[in-house]
Parts: sequence; structure tokens; C-alpha cells
Amino acid sequence: MAETLKTSIEELVGDEAKVIEGDFERELYSMDIGEVPFATRLFDTTPELVILPKSVDALKKIVRFANDEKVALFPRGSASSGLGGVVPTEKGIVLDLSSLNKIFELNREKETVKVQTGVRWSELEEFLNPENLSVRTYPSSFFSTLGGWIATGGYGIGSYRFGHLKDQIESIEVMFPSGEVKSINSREEEFARFFGTEGQFGIVLSAVLKLRKKPEKSLPHLIYLESAEDAFVFITGMINAGLKPNHIKYMGASHLEEANTFLGEHLFRLKDAVLVEFEEEEEATKFRDFAEGRGILADDYLSNYLWHERLFPMKKRSGKPTPLACEVVIPLANAVSYLKEAKRYFKKCGVDVEVESHIVGKDRALLMLTYMSDVREPKTYLANMALIPVLTRLGLKFGGVPYGIGIWNTPFINDKYDTKTLELYKAYKKEVDPNNILNPNKFFTVKTKMANIPGIMFKPLIFRQLIRISATVTPILGKRASSKGGLKEESVLEKIVYSCIKCGSCAATCPAYLVTNEESVTPKNKLYLAKKLLAGDAISKTDSDKIFLCTHCEMCRAVCQNDLDLVAAWTELEKLLEAEFGAPEEAIRDFVSTMESSEDYWRFVYNAQKI
Ligand SMILES: Cc1cc2nc3c(=O)[nH]c(=O)nc-3n(C[C@H](O)[C@H](O)[C@H](O)COP(=O)(O)OP(=O)(O)OC[C@H]3O[C@@H](n4cnc5c(N)ncnc54)[C@H](O)[C@@H]3O)c2cc1C
Ligand code: SF4
Ligand code: SF4
Repeated sequence: MAETLKTSIEELVGDEAKVIEGDFERELYSMDIGEVPFATRLFDTTPELVILPKSVDALKKIVRFANDEKVALFPRGSASSGLGGVVPTEKGIVLDLSSLNKIFELNREKETVKVQTGVRWSELEEFLNPENLSVRTYPSSFFSTLGGWIATGGYGIGSYRFGHLKDQIESIEVMFPSGEVKSINSREEEFARFFGTEGQFGIVLSAVLKLRKKPEKSLPHLIYLESAEDAFVFITGMINAGLKPNHIKYMGASHLEEANTFLGEHLFRLKDAVLVEFEEEEEATKFRDFAEGRGILADDYLSNYLWHERLFPMKKRSGKPTPLACEVVIPLANAVSYLKEAKRYFKKCGVDVEVESHIVGKDRALLMLTYMSDVREPKTYLANMALIPVLTRLGLKFGGVPYGIGIWNTPFINDKYDTKTLELYKAYKKEVDPNNILNPNKFFTVKTKMANIPGIMFKPLIFRQLIRISATVTPILGKRASSKGGLKEESVLEKIVYSCIKCGSCAATCPAYLVTNEESVTPKNKLYLAKKLLAGDAISKTDSDKIFLCTHCEMCRAVCQNDLDLVAAWTELEKLLEAEFGAPEEAIRDFVSTMESSEDYWRFVYNAQKI
């Protein structure tokens, strides 16, 4: 089937798309950053083919073909989301949209730009800054794509000042499963349907983004407060006083404790804190006056450090290697009550939690509860995972909604949308995607392998009962499991392999990836191959050879979310593979000559020197 599919696609699009069919490479497209060990039992997660269309025309031919032949399509940006939005659920095609990343029309007067949605935020900002312009809001995952953020969250840095992403966009162009392309203006009712609906209705091709002048200053301030309660009272007071920060973020004391551990010094006080960024000196002065007597202001260098770290929200973490997180958007007034209950529950389970919250409007907060586990300890890990739906459900009681849906939050779809909106969305899905080829078996309803028997547990009513049971049993299991404690003994390579959270931050800066455009050359996927090697899985020489396509330039290390010593990993990994297969002299020679003749590479070297 895959062979026929490949032949048909190649006949249709020729060189206008890259088609990936290798076993290992397809496996790389079977996951996002969420570690869900049972996903492969529920779904066919490895796609039959991966296609990177190089033009909208090629994409249109592929989409039309898939619609006619009823082949499932799974759109993908940089796969930095974690709820299964990009994970295939049945045989089909992953559409890697990262090559559709052109920046077309910059309107300096109106301060707008039209871009294809495969563009990464970092690339866009690099293009805009020399024009003295900047985007208004962006996710902490600066390396992710615009299309991915339209289709998922839309809240991030700058959301307090500028609001949700959809308020920063004038119009979008969408390709429906029929191949029809439609331009939709922000004033049209249809516009909002494409935000947060995770590629269910169409592929968002391009957007006209509203910009602003590049801020001249960044004036972050960190203020320590006695408790979460005090911190949220402070935040509300600041909002009511009419202060105009660009961004407001709450951090629990454990967050600052982590920062101390990471820096190896007791620099931050172990208190709850609020980080606020201003761009105007006058506003910052008003803030300092407001803060006087309410809390303790940290030194500027500490505030600046934490502000810089906004793009590395996953940098940490002492102890266990696998992060788990629950994200809810909750009324600001209920945030503290929710946090109190949630922390009590975490304590019952013997799990340490870190809390942070972006304030995303005058009355709303995006709360993120993160904790560490170890995917190599299946029982503990499953008990820890079970906390996520329990905590999400708890959020509902306080007027919250889950931030994203994907596969794993599908049972909460009725809580995220009111009945009228959900009915409208379901009817729209039937209208625009009658063959249900776009991201099927998730978001609206889960459908699994084995005649959908396991899928029954995702039905909201049944899921609710399961959560009830889970809420009672998890503290017992969790405590028992966590009391076993401790990390396994591990080599440097193993430690790095298991500490990689697959965020993809490193891919955006890797010159080897930039030049080869091969997913298996990205640092995260080199680590994935190392993981298979360490687990004793068979590796082919072709896949092994890709590991050697590396300049040891250390750019990956510089941007790694987890501050992993990646170059040490490459050295150890290359040694292991060389012992097994020998060094691929010819592949390395070809790689070096490709790099030397690549304009992209020399542009990269030039830009790296400016840093
Ligand atoms: C370190 C880190 C920090 C993060 N910070 C934030 C944050 O501040 N705010 C936030 O909201 N999230 C954040 N995230 C989550 C994630 O990065 C965002 O959701 C991001 O916007 C996803 O973009 P992506 O390109 O990786 O999309 P993907 O993960 O590839 O895709 C996400 C969903 O969008 C669909 N999709 C992708 N492209 C298109 C398209 N062109 N048309 C239609 N559907 C499409 C996919 O099918 C999938 O359902 C963070 C993640 C990490 C690892
Ligand atoms: S060291 Fe290798 S893997 Fe890391 S960024 Fe450089 S080329 Fe890429
Ligand atoms: S190596 Fe670092 S930056 Fe790259 S995916 Fe892993 S954690 Fe993220």
C-alpha cells in the first residue's frame, strides 16, 4: 500500500515535494513531545509516508488526492505540542509543513507581514528586527511554527498586553480537504474556527500578521512575595491600578529553587514571585512605586536572567528526566483556590510540583503545573500520568478549561467548548471534511485500533468515572512508587538521551539540518537513534551514517531547553557507531562539500558570528 501511495504521489508532484519512506525516518514522525507509552497500542502511529511539499500547488495536489482516495492526513509544524495533535492515529500521510515558510509581503507603513505558516517565530523575528519591527506575541517555543500556534494555544509572551494570537492576525488563507483555497478575514465569523482547532477543518497556509515597532527597551522586574495568594493579590492590584506591562508571569517558589539548583548558587530567594516586563521607563517607574512595601524587588541581573529564560521554560531539572504537565486556562480570581487544592493533591501523591502562570488578560491566567517522572519506570510513570486528567478536571470545578485537546484531552472537549459552539464545529467538520481525512480519530472523538474497544474509555462519561477512581487510587500508587525513588545508574549518553524532551528547539539552529533538510539529522532525532541503540534495537548503517553529519559547532547545546551537553553525546555516540559500522568516510566527505557550497550554511556562519 505504502509503495502504491508513494508512486501515486511522486507521479502527481514530481520534485515539488520530498517523500520520506524509510522505516526509521517515518518512526521519527510518529510522536510529539508527550511520552505516552501505550500510544502505539491504541493507534497506528507510524505514518505510511511523510511528505514535505515545497509549494502550495504541490500541497493542493496531495490534499486532493488524499481526499479522493480517503487517505488520512496529519498536518505537522515542528511537533512541539504534547497532546497528540500531530501523532498519526491510522495509516496515512504526515504532512510536514515546515518547508512552506516564505515571508512574502512586508507592509512597513501598515506594520503587517504576510507569511506562510511553516515559518518559525525565530526566523520571522530575525527577518523583522533589521526593519525595526517585531511580532506582538509569540510562544516560549520560539522555534515552533506560526501554523502550529494558530492551530493550538495562541497564548504566550506578550499576551497580557496584546491578547490572543487571533487578535494579532488580519486574515488567513486556508486549504480545505477538497483542495479549495479560501482567504478569510478576521471580521468574518468563520475566521475564529481555525484557532485552537488543531487542523481539523483545513490547512492554514498563510497569515497576515499585525506587527509593531521593535521595542527599544526591555525592563523586566522580579518581585518576591510571601505566598501564591499574595502574588495573585499583587497581580490583581497591578492590573486594577492600570499599569501597562508587556507580560506578567507568576512563578512558585519551587521554580526559583530549580533556578538555584541549575545555577549551582543560592541566588534567588525561595519565595513565590512575579516577573513583569515593561518596555517603557515611565511604566517601569510606576511599577516600582506600586511594588514599594508590597514585596521585595530582586536585583536587575536576576530579573534579566529570568526574563531571558522565558524562551527556555523547560530548562532544569534536577532529578527525574521526563516532564509531565497539566495546563488549564482559569479565571484569575480562582487561580489561588485551584492551586491550593492541586498542591494538596500533589502532596498526597508524594509528587513535587512546579507552578508557573502566564497572565493572559485582565481576568485570565494560563496555569502550568509541571512535575518530573521517569518513563523508564512504567508503573510510576503511569501513576504520575494519571494525575494530569485529575488535575484538569479539578480545574473545571474552578471555572477553568483545558488549554489544548489533541488526543489525550479529547474527553474534555465538552468542557472546552459550549454546546452551541461544539455543534457548530461538528457540522462545519462534516461540511468541509466529509471524508474525515484531516487529523482523524482525535479532538472531537477518539477512535482506536481493536475495533475501538479501548477508545470507549475516552468517552466523557466513562472517562469521568475513570478519573474518579484514579483520583482515589493515584495517591496510594503514586506514594508507593515514588518511595522507591532514585534514578538508575546511567552513562553520560544515556542520561542525555533520557533528559531530552524532544522539544525541537535544537533543530532550528542546527546547520547540518538547515543544509540537508533531513529530519534524522536534527539533534533530537540523533538522540532518538541513540535511545534505540542503547535499548539494543537494530539500527541500519544508513541511519547510523546520518549521525556523522555534524559539524560539532555546539549551536544545539547553546539553545537546548534542558542544557544538555550534546556535543559530549555526539562524541560518545559516534564512537559507539564507529565501532559497529565504521566511520562513513564518503558520506562525511559529501556532507562537507554540500556544506561548503551551501549559501544557507555561509549565511548561518555569518549570523552566528554576530551573536
Ligand atoms: C519549550 C516549549 C515552550 C512552549 N511554550 C508555549 C507557549 O508559550 N504557548 C503555547 O501556546 N504553547 C507552547 N508550547 C507548546 C507548542 O510549542 C505550541 O503549541 C506550538 O505553537 C506548536 O507549534 P508547532 O509548530 O510545534 O505545531 P505542531 O506541534 O507541529 O502542531 C500542533 C497542531 O497544529 C496542527 N497544525 C500544525 N500546522 C498546521 C497548519 N499549518 N494548519 C493546520 N493545522 C496545523 C497539527 O496537526 C497539530 O494538531 C511550548 C512547547 C515547548 C516544548
Ligand atoms: S553540533 Fe552538530 S547537531 Fe549540534 S547544531 Fe552543530 S551540527 Fe547540529
Ligand atoms: S536536545 Fe535539547 S533542545 Fe533538542 S529536543 Fe532535546 S531537550 Fe530539546
